[in-house]
Amino acid sequence: MITFEGLGIDERLIQATTELGYVNPTAIQEQAIPVLLSGTTDFIGLAQTGTGKTAAFGLPLLHIIDAAAKYPQALVVCPTRELCLQIVKEIELFKKYMTGISVVAVYGGASIGLQIRDLKRGVQIVVATPGRLIDLIERKAINLEQISYVVLDEADEMLNMGFQDDIEFILKNTPQRNSTWLFSATMPPEIRKVSKRYMKDPKEVTVGKVNTSNKSIDHQYYVTTAHHRYETLKRIIDFNPGIYGIIFTRTKLDAQEISERLTREGYDIDALHGDLTQGQRDKVMGQFRDKSLQLLIATDVAARGIDVQGITHVINFELPDDVEIYTHRSGRTGRAGNQGICISIVHAKETYKLKQIERINNCHFSKLDIPSGKDVCRKQFFSFMDKLLSADISHGDYETYVPMLAEKFADVSKEDVLKRVAAMEFDRFLKYYENSEDLNIRERDRSAKRDPNDRGDNRSSRRESGRDAGRDAGRGDSRKEYKSGGGYSRLFVNLGTKDGFYKASFLQFVLDMSDLKKEVLGRIDMKDMNSWIEIEKTAAQQMIRSLDGKKYKGRSIRMNDADSGGGRR
Ligand code: AMP
Repeated sequence: MITFEGLGIDERLIQATTELGYVNPTAIQEQAIPVLLSGTTDFIGLAQTGTGKTAAFGLPLLHIIDAAAKYPQALVVCPTRELCLQIVKEIELFKKYMTGISVVAVYGGASIGLQIRDLKRGVQIVVATPGRLIDLIERKAINLEQISYVVLDEADEMLNMGFQDDIEFILKNTPQRNSTWLFSATMPPEIRKVSKRYMKDPKEVTVGKVNTSNKSIDHQYYVTTAHHRYETLKRIIDFNPGIYGIIFTRTKLDAQEISERLTREGYDIDALHGDLTQGQRDKVMGQFRDKSLQLLIATDVAARGIDVQGITHVINFELPDDVEIYTHRSGRTGRAGNQGICISIVHAKETYKLKQIERINNCHFSKLDIPSGKDVCRKQFFSFMDKLLSADISHGDYETYVPMLAEKFADVSKEDVLKRVAAMEFDRFLKYYENSEDLNIRERDRSAKRDPNDRGDNRSSRRESGRDAGRDAGRGDSRKEYKSGGGYSRLFVNLGTKDGFYKASFLQFVLDMSDLKKEVLGRIDMKDMNSWIEIEKTAAQQMIRSLDGKKYKGRSIRMNDADSGGGRR
């Protein structure tokens, strides 16, 4: 078995990696380190995140740079700020026992002034995102003249994000480069071109299978009509109560619209798209990372480079045209040895695309039935009961109260308690799904029924629009049931947990203000800044009149009917 000593790296680095718990080098480290230590050989490492590639280039860099020379000698270019910070963090850990070596991260969205100051301190290793690096070069705040080593990390992601010109610019402007080290999960032709143009006889190493799908991902799909895509998405989310996932859309308009619609309907979701400022993007990413946001909806461009641990599901609201994009999307889950699920909502006519992905990615798709309303309710109830039964009861002084409760409620049966728990927790789900329709396209329907959004021949489209009108009417009813919850309205109010409320105190507040009884209320969804209240239709106006325009802690309260377009602005 090869050891780090056997690879020939500095013993101070070995001491640090031993403390980090590294016993043996990983496959990419074993193959890369001896080559990179020479400092003069160009290198291509085809390896995914999680293979130990940061140490594969970080350890040799620390070994070969000159600690006495106080100018940038090594440049690591990577696609995102998150990755930039992660690389710097790891290099800091590796150099724990080395003195005189500094490493700095430069990336967009943070103060360029502070980064310029850091660079002036005499750093040897610069870890940068392409855009910010170009900015610094143009401001003459960084001199690449004496850079000896350039590392391109996640090169395929950088090219996907449109950084090809920037990468070429960087490579052209590092004239003293002794070697270039390129790491990438896949090898698209553009990378091949860059390597041909800027690298000399690179040693190429592949770890694991490149261009194949990750085996820890379960690829699933649901077939429905374009017309039912949104309902199907909702049903998938409802069917997976513990979901922590990313939904991909093709356009930013879809991302925005679906996010707003789902938010109005009480889901924890926000959108990531190209129109956000770095500050807004950081905020959304921060919330998603610390799991205060359960779902993120994103376009491909906006989601590139995101490396969030523990994502359980990736959902393709629509299949991408490009197999490569499917690979990138699905690769957001099933990381670091975890299992992940990638779900695609497809139209019957798109199944040929699945075959194509299966062939190119050497993976297998399983077709699943879109869960029925009953399936969803059952799953939600089981999940709630699992949570209930796994609550920690080892600490509280429950013994004091339980005998009293047991005596007082002696004739309440277990079945009765379960029914009431269901009524309290799942009233909304049960009502919503009571008359829900089957969203699957059944084989028997296929020849007769067509999606109105299909570009089918006119005659069949016309035939079907009549049928759809009937179906729409039914669907319209069931949606009205949900929005109005069988005589319920949903009210939006610009008060939330940030105002110091929690559910019970908020409920009390709105009831006190409106002089209404608790029984008129349905479900309450609270977020930081806003909340949504289900209320019997007959009482809705009284509540709006009592709260809208009033003050709370000096702030004007805004309340309106969430489903008449005023929900979220
Ligand atoms: P990376 O692919 O660089 O993101 O590394 C994935 C994870 O593997 C990181 O948490 C590293 O700290 C860890 N790691 C890297 N090299 C080794 C090693 N030789 N032994 C054990 N863990 C490692």
